Amino acid sequence: MASTLNHTHDAAARSWVASANAPGCDFPIQNLPLAIFHRADSNEPLRGGCAIGEQIVDLAALAGTGLLAGDAQTACEACAQPALNGYFALGSRHWRALRHALFDLLRDNAPADTKDRVRTCLVAQSDAHYGLPARIGDYTDFYTSIHHAINVGKLIFPDNPLTPNFQWLPIAYHGRASSVRVGQPGFGFTRPSGQAMAPGAAQPAYGPCARLDFELEMGFFIGPGNPLGTPIPIAQAQEHIAGMVLLNDWSARDHQFWEMNPLGPFLGKNFCTTVSPWVVSLEALAPYRLPFTRPAGDPQPLPYLDGEANRAGGSIDVQLQVRLDTPAHRECAAQPSAIARTSFRHQYWTIAQMVAQHTVGGCDLQPGDLLGTGTVSGPTPQEAGALVELSKGGRAPVTLDATGEQRGFLEDGDTVILRGWCEKDGAARIGFGECRGTVLASQGS
Ligand code: MN
Repeated sequence: MASTLNHTHDAAARSWVASANAPGCDFPIQNLPLAIFHRADSNEPLRGGCAIGEQIVDLAALAGTGLLAGDAQTACEACAQPALNGYFALGSRHWRALRHALFDLLRDNAPADTKDRVRTCLVAQSDAHYGLPARIGDYTDFYTSIHHAINVGKLIFPDNPLTPNFQWLPIAYHGRASSVRVGQPGFGFTRPSGQAMAPGAAQPAYGPCARLDFELEMGFFIGPGNPLGTPIPIAQAQEHIAGMVLLNDWSARDHQFWEMNPLGPFLGKNFCTTVSPWVVSLEALAPYRLPFTRPAGDPQPLPYLDGEANRAGGSIDVQLQVRLDTPAHRECAAQPSAIARTSFRHQYWTIAQMVAQHTVGGCDLQPGDLLGTGTVSGPTPQEAGALVELSKGGRAPVTLDATGEQRGFLEDGDTVILRGWCEKDGAARIGFGECRGTVLASQGS
C-alpha cells in the first residue's frame, strides 16, 4: 500500500548530492519526484528526470548506465520518453521499484563508483525547461472544498450557499486538456476575452476579462486506469494515482458566472490551466496521511465512497501557499506578497473518493489523465484559495504587504506563485516546488 512506511521515509537518510540535505529543501532523498525536462534553449529531446536537491537525475541517461535491473530498469526506460504516460501505466510495483533504486543510488553510503556514474547523469535544475509530465487525454476538475463551496455560494445564494449534492458526492466538471501548461518561470498567458453580463445591464458585453482569478488546487495523474464499464473501487483507487502536483485553475469570473448556468464552466475556465513540473508520488507522501473524517451531523459517505483505508489515511496534510508578484514588486525588488495559506487536509472529499466517483458509472480513466481537486480553501478567511473569496467578490480588495497595492482581481503583469510542502517532526520535508504563471495583456478585442 502507498501508505506503508519503509526505509525510503527514514528522516535521517542523507544524499551525497549535498543540496538535497539543506534545511527547507523541497527535494530531499525521501521525495524523489519525477518531471519531463530538457536543458533550456537546447534541441535535446524531452525526457524524464528525478529531482534530488537542486539537481535532476536524467533518467534517459541513467537507463543506459547498467546501474539498474528488473522492474526498476523497466520503469527507468519508460521514463526515458518525452512523456510519462508509459511509466504511469506500469503501476505501483514499478513506481516503487524505481523509487527504491534511486534512493539506493543517491544515498550517501552508495559505493564511490556508483556515485561517479550517477554524477554523469546530473543536470542542474537552474538549466532546465520543463514539459508537461504526460500527454493529458482528459482533464477533470472536482469541487471538493466545503469552505470554498460555501464562500463562493454565498456570493450568489447568501441564504443557501451549499448545493444539496455537495455532502453526498464529490462533484466535478469535465475540463479542457489542450490548454494545460507547465507553470514555470517565464510562462505567461493572454487575458481572455468573452461575454459578461454586468449587474443591471440589459445585455451582455464582449471584451477582455475584468475579473481574472486564480484557483489554488492540487492535481493528480492517473496510473493504469480502468476499462470502460469497470469501475475502480475505492479500496483500489490509490493504485491508480501516479502522483500529485500543484494546479492553478485560472478563472475568468465575469465570463464564468454568466455562462455556467445551467451547464457549468466553459470559456471561463478553458483558456489556461497550469501544473507544477514535479510529480510527487503517493509513496513519498505516506508520512503525511491523515484519517478521513466527517463533522458531527454531516451525512456519512455512501458505501461505494467509504472504506477502511480511506477512513484510516485518506486525507493528506499538504501545506499550501499563494504569493503574488506584481510589476510594482519587481520595480522595488520586493519579495512576492503572501496572500493565502492553507492545507489540503481540509478537503471534504479525498483523492480516493474522487477516483471512485469518477469511474462508478463505468467511465474509463487512462494513464496520464489529470484530475484536479478543486480550489483548496480552509476554514478561516485567510485560508481561501481564490481572489473572488479573499476579496469578497472584489468588494474588499486584498492589500499586498510588500507594496501596499490592492487587488480585487488580477491585473496585467501579475504573477501568481503556488507553493506546496509537507513538514512535521520526525519526517523529512516533502516539497512540490512551485507552480507559477503571469497574466499578459489582452491582445485586444
Ligand atoms: Mn477549479
